[in-house]
Amino acid sequence: MMLEMLDMVRKLPPETTLGAFVAGLDRMVAHAECRYCKEPISRLSVAEDQPWFHDDPSRMRGCHAASYRPGKGWNDSLPKKWSATPA
Ligand SMILES: [Zn+2]
Repeated sequence: MMLEMLDMVRKLPPETTLGAFVAGLDRMVAHAECRYCKEPISRLSVAEDQPWFHDDPSRMRGCHAASYRPGKGWNDSLPKKWSATPA
């Protein structure tokens, strides 16, 4: 996945702004809802063999791990074997 990003950066014209660069990266990301915990998930859209991650700040794969909220802890109703999977 890093190599695809590096290839993309090499093809950019030198006058490309940071905003345009970030927009280009955003277009490489696929978004979905997790079928298990219903939270937003994402992955690099150019790499269909790559895993999905929850969009929480820690970018965890596991639904239980991604359910952590400061002051509230984890949602223990989510089995630890569930991982980010699109609906
Ligand atoms: Zn989930």
